[in-house]
Amino acid sequence: MRIILIGAPGSGKGTQAESIREKYPIAHISTGDILRANVKADTELGRNAKEYMASGKLVPDELIVAMMESRLRESDCKDGFLLDGFPRTKPQAEALDSILEKLGISLDAVIQLDVDDEIVVQRLTTRRVCKSCGEIYNTAFKPAKIEGICDKCGGEVIQRNDDKESVIRNRLAVFHEQTAPLIDYYRSKDILASVDAAGGKDVVLKLLEKRKGAGK
Ligand code: ADP
Ligand code: ZN
Repeated sequence: MRIILIGAPGSGKGTQAESIREKYPIAHISTGDILRANVKADTELGRNAKEYMASGKLVPDELIVAMMESRLRESDCKDGFLLDGFPRTKPQAEALDSILEKLGISLDAVIQLDVDDEIVVQRLTTRRVCKSCGEIYNTAFKPAKIEGICDKCGGEVIQRNDDKESVIRNRLAVFHEQTAPLIDYYRSKDILASVDAAGGKDVVLKLLEKRKGAGK
């Protein structure tokens, strides 16, 4: 199974991906996670991407496309993959089409997670993350037992720079401008499905099961 999740920042793509991965043994590829790992390891890609990420801008297409082409060639993608955070622009979607063509494979579904901007702002300004293990917390409904310290590993729990409100507003504007057009792009290819992001952490998984049941 090869699927793409499209959704505004904070629409819960990562959470949906996790629930899907429990059922299907496919590679979960989050461009945000790969980029953050590169920033942390201070690679050339990380150094080039850092400033864009901190201000909520998109990292240039060439860097992302090169990164994804090599990622999609890795062996764990043979059994399928779930793309979380890619493509995010029309040129990226077109580049993905040609990568898939080269690899001789095609997409099964593109799933759009629909969510209201104000819900996103609410969700992301309260989001915190462990600097060491990546565990996600929320000051409103999933606080760390001891403030600032990870329950799982004892690491430092922080707010991501790009989770500050002004940066979130910027990321939302970028989403509406650059990524939302992909919804029409995939709709015209007849592989788009939309779900309400407020429908719980298994909405996408349920949709996939239903489609499978219907032989799609
Ligand atoms: P979110 O989906 O919550 O905005 P991500 O963790 O997916 O955040 O991405 C964090 C940042 O990484 C983005 O704001 C952007 O700067 C960069 N990024 C991630 N994916 C892409 C992409 N496909 N194209 C360009 N930039 C990207
Ligand atoms: Zn931790």
